[in-house]
Amino acid sequence: MQYISTRGGAEALDFEGVTLTGLASDGGLFLPDAWPRFSAAEMAAMVGLPYPELAARIMAPFVGESLTQDRLRSLCNTAYGGFAHDAVTPLVQLSAQHWLLELFHGPTLAFKDVALQMLGLLFEEFLARSDSHLTIVGATSGDTGSAAIHAVADRAKVVIFMIHPAGRVSDVQRRQMTTVHAGNVHNIAIDGSFDDAQAMVKRMFADQAMNGRFRIGAVNSINWARLMAQVVYYFAAALQLGAPGRRVAFSVPTGNFGDVFAGYVAARMGLPIERLIVATNVNDIAHRALSTGDYSAGEVTPTAAPSMDIQISSNFERLLFEAGGRDGVGMQAQMANFEDQRAMRLSDLQIAGTGELFRSARADHDDMLRAMRWANEHCGQAIDPHTAIGLHAALQSDLPPQVPVVTLATAHPAKFPDAVEEATGRRPELPERVGDLFALEERFTHLPNDYAAVAEYVAAHATPAR
Ligand SMILES: *Cc1c(COP(=O)(O)O)cnc(C)c1O
Repeated sequence: MQYISTRGGAEALDFEGVTLTGLASDGGLFLPDAWPRFSAAEMAAMVGLPYPELAARIMAPFVGESLTQDRLRSLCNTAYGGFAHDAVTPLVQLSAQHWLLELFHGPTLAFKDVALQMLGLLFEEFLARSDSHLTIVGATSGDTGSAAIHAVADRAKVVIFMIHPAGRVSDVQRRQMTTVHAGNVHNIAIDGSFDDAQAMVKRMFADQAMNGRFRIGAVNSINWARLMAQVVYYFAAALQLGAPGRRVAFSVPTGNFGDVFAGYVAARMGLPIERLIVATNVNDIAHRALSTGDYSAGEVTPTAAPSMDIQISSNFERLLFEAGGRDGVGMQAQMANFEDQRAMRLSDLQIAGTGELFRSARADHDDMLRAMRWANEHCGQAIDPHTAIGLHAALQSDLPPQVPVVTLATAHPAKFPDAVEEATGRRPELPERVGDLFALEERFTHLPNDYAAVAEYVAAHATPAR
């Protein structure tokens, strides 16, 4: 399998190359050159498989020649063996039609672990084959940072720099990053928003002075391997609910559009997905784009669901490329225009293409609180603010009753205790496995919202590529 850039101007790479590269050299994002497809009989044969085995089957066509089947299976066993639930991503029923897919049983209590536990192992595997070192530079709205740090702490040949917006992540989220004291982990807080942090990361990939001396890798969902790992749980859930014989819908709390794009990939692979509901908070660029064709970035409004406080959804570019007929030259021009204007219109082809599978909804603070109360009162289920936004959108949808609707539960409620308490009056407790975060010393470096300052810090602490 080869991977091509959404902007048509980068050399194609194999799976190993794309995992270690992150962003394409033309500024685009990598996608497989063709979608592998499973037949109904192949999917029926996957029903009931243990999660790591299912993961190896779904990932195999994407991994291609980069890993043997045995090696891939063994990495999946290691990555998912550490989850606190044997099902890895268990389904919980809320009502006759509604389900939660719990994605927070990994070490840092959010769905990011599902992909990053695998990605950390892939980095180690591929770096061991060469004499090169990887410098990971990431931006986090909260959950990617801790999941990435836990996935690569103390791994050989990798140094990680994680940039978070100062004061805009929850205490639990920050402490899950800053209390990891491995020698290869550097936390940076900047005076800015998540979008500022993400823009710095993208700039560093394009900066020849940095991305020549250092081999800069990505742990954000611009990295294809992350999305690949997330495709697996769409299959796991749908197969449990009757696929391939029955169609299933998903509601996905969305920020950078990575998680919901993995659902799109599952559909392209043959999984019978009736609908993908893109749920946003008041930072609703994805909702506006899908409902009106207007993709224009406003200012970020901080909310109780900080991992969705994003105005520019990187992975939306992948969907536009697909929906627009895979026109790399057209994407190059469209994205250059967007980067200049911070606004663009979707083409008619893109609107028609996205409309087939996607719907969207937006939830404000009250909608979120109401969904948390509904889950608590109807099912005795505490849910986090991000999940609540997904559930709000799921409950609003007009899907026929025979279509199960699965809301992705993207974080453990104890990661956001204030919002849960505001809605339900009950403060959720952190599971014991995360330890006493509040007793540990925090380590991070505070820098201004200035690319040069961040680049200088990274250059001073990273290991050159070879
Ligand atoms: C990252 C995150 C999201 C948004 O996921 P995207 O892939 O960026 O769309 C939603 N909820 C939680 C808890 C997250 O950590």
